[in-house]
Amino acid sequence: MGVEGLRFVITGAAVGIGAGTARLAAARGAKVVVSDMNDADGQALVEEICAAGGEAIYQHCDVTDEEQVKALMAATAEAFGGIDILHNNAGVHESILSSELSLESMSRATFERVMNINVTGVWLCAKYALPYLRESAAASIINAGSTSSLSGYPQCQAYGASKGAVMQLSKMLAVDLAPDKIRVNCYCPGSIHTQIVDNYLAAAPDPQAMLNTMTQTHLIPRMGQPVDVAELVCFLASPESAFVNGAVWTIDGGSLAWRGTLDVLGMEVET
Ligand code: NAP
Repeated sequence: MGVEGLRFVITGAAVGIGAGTARLAAARGAKVVVSDMNDADGQALVEEICAAGGEAIYQHCDVTDEEQVKALMAATAEAFGGIDILHNNAGVHESILSSELSLESMSRATFERVMNINVTGVWLCAKYALPYLRESAAASIINAGSTSSLSGYPQCQAYGASKGAVMQLSKMLAVDLAPDKIRVNCYCPGSIHTQIVDNYLAAAPDPQAMLNTMTQTHLIPRMGQPVDVAELVCFLASPESAFVNGAVWTIDGGSLAWRGTLDVLGMEVET
């Protein structure tokens, strides 16, 4: 049970949540393909996992490049004999690409690049993993949404639109792939402490005010950590979640469960 023996492909896995998931899944006996465009950190992570006794390989892949996506799936099947779990983790926020984030100033190129990575990349990976997933007895696709799939945030036009689309795409794929016994789920993290959040904060007019806005609504009064999300991904990948399909699972410290801030409860953010 758990993820032991399952063959994972994780996109954008060199750092952040993807790396956290690669570490946890490998520590629990999964075979993991760490894929990213950041080759140095990706290869270092694979060395770390293998040194700890886990099984992992690295494969370069830009999820917007169809040939690289095909090659990623083929390399996984060649290394591990197939694919059970596709974790579509790679994603960007517009603040990583540009400092022009208002409707007037953001370029079409920035908007389209975010949509291309966050939505088209998910679709391409699902498309080219499909022949391998069909051969698996434990197939599932796990897509990274966001609380911005469900709620509005400042300076998030492209990101929020893309994550809303990922959530809906997950449901459509769950329907279309049900006859193939492939489960498709989407999880929606709140603020998880990784580079994408640091960049978003740095781009905000008042980073401290933005940090407060992001964490003041967490009923668990801290930022999330990559391992928090990794635990959920491993559950969604495992046979224990066999009846979970087409789900949208928030993992946000409770921030979308209410409309208040911590001071109302006499609580403070833990730093
Ligand atoms: P991160 O720390 O920025 O890591 C993302 C990784 O994806 C980086 O290694 C990045 O490589 C890679 N990447 C970027 N573009 C790519 C592409 N075209 N093809 C393949 N890989 C690419 O992000 P994270 O915080 O771990 O987030 C992971 C996922 O969770 C994303 O989909 C994000 O939207 C979602 N999420 C995160 C949070 C959060 O609070 N952290 C909240 C909600 C949702 P480079 O460094 O080379 O760009």
